[in-house]
Amino acid sequence: MSLTEVNMALVSAAGRVVELQTALTACKALGPDNGGQGEAAKVAFIARQLEACGIRDIRQFDAPDPRVPGGVRPNLVARLAGRSSRTLWLFGHTDVVPPGDVAAWSSDPWQVRQDGDWLYGRGVEDNQQAIVSMLLLAEALRKTGSTPELGLGLVFMADEESGSRYGLEFLLGSASGLFAPDDLYIVPDAGSPRADRIEVAEKGQLWLKCSTRGQQCHASTPHKGRNAFLAGAELVLALEKGLTAAFPQEDALFRPAHSTFVPSRHDANVDSINILPGSDVFYVDCRLIPQVVAQDVLQEARRIAATVAASHGVAIEIEVVQQQAAAASRTDSPVVTALQGAIGAVYGVEARPVGIGGLTVAAHLRQHGLPVAVWACIANTCHQPDERSSISNTCRDAQVFAHILMKGEDAGGAGTDMRPYRHA
Ligand SMILES: [Zn+2]
Repeated sequence: MSLTEVNMALVSAAGRVVELQTALTACKALGPDNGGQGEAAKVAFIARQLEACGIRDIRQFDAPDPRVPGGVRPNLVARLAGRSSRTLWLFGHTDVVPPGDVAAWSSDPWQVRQDGDWLYGRGVEDNQQAIVSMLLLAEALRKTGSTPELGLGLVFMADEESGSRYGLEFLLGSASGLFAPDDLYIVPDAGSPRADRIEVAEKGQLWLKCSTRGQQCHASTPHKGRNAFLAGAELVLALEKGLTAAFPQEDALFRPAHSTFVPSRHDANVDSINILPGSDVFYVDCRLIPQVVAQDVLQEARRIAATVAASHGVAIEIEVVQQQAAAASRTDSPVVTALQGAIGAVYGVEARPVGIGGLTVAAHLRQHGLPVAVWACIANTCHQPDERSSISNTCRDAQVFAHILMKGEDAGGAGTDMRPYRHA
């Protein structure tokens, strides 16, 4: 059975996309951090679809979480053997974020509405487009009786929206043996409307807490105190300017290409206008390109703080509240080349590897040394009111995965038997 047959099954799957999206959205899979009951109902629905595809190797990895009914956050792993020992892994997260201001929606966020090629509803893009394209792929293989070149691994993870502790992190802790370093990993949870961006790297994250201690007094007699707010204000400007100047290195993979140092949160200080504040706390969100060492940034921040502290006669402490190293997959790794070939064949565009400043779930895989590409053809409406997903792009994303799955090592090469799909 050939790739062409699998593709034929996928291009005619529009009705199935609507069906699956409608059922998945109605599950309202909010995690307990978002006031919901978790992903169990949604995962049970997905498991039934996989069973109906004749997939026998389905395993559930339950992360204990007493906050939800049933007490667990389920993660599902379904596998289908291929000719080769290597596996193409696709990841979708089952949880969604709350709808936000419901009045900002044109229709009920939990009931899918169709308008032409677009489906609207909470979760349809993030991350049900991925889930649906993964299920379509399994169904097309079943329908055509195809044995793919690569093995297929479908992972449905919980808790992505609140940090992945009960999701991918748990799975990597309890089932890391599933994932081999020479397998191919695709996370279809970010992308562009033109399908031309493959995310391969993330900047490192360093969150600093800057606490200034002065001496509180009546605001009418400033000479009797030490104004921590005033010193803090100078520190904000000095840090932003000083760190930007000290770490000018650039990496063309990222936009912006340099590291960023952004003063963000500022804690409340005194209640009254007539109190000179004796304490001031603010935070700086640093995103570091892989060439910049977090320890060097911390050291430079403390050096700048010491200068400000001396000139204001205050004490300043700089602490790290969160840190995550930069993680990058090689731009020439097999998964990236295979994706580029498949995207060219299906969407008719040249996709280029990029890096981003934000952290995605892919970072967990990269920390385990697994080469992962983040890609999908999406409108980027996640977390917004009227979140939407294209029916035809969901089918095409599945075709991209089919292309890699059926061709294996050759997916990135020339000589495909497919003509690029053109938008009508
Ligand atoms: Zn997502």
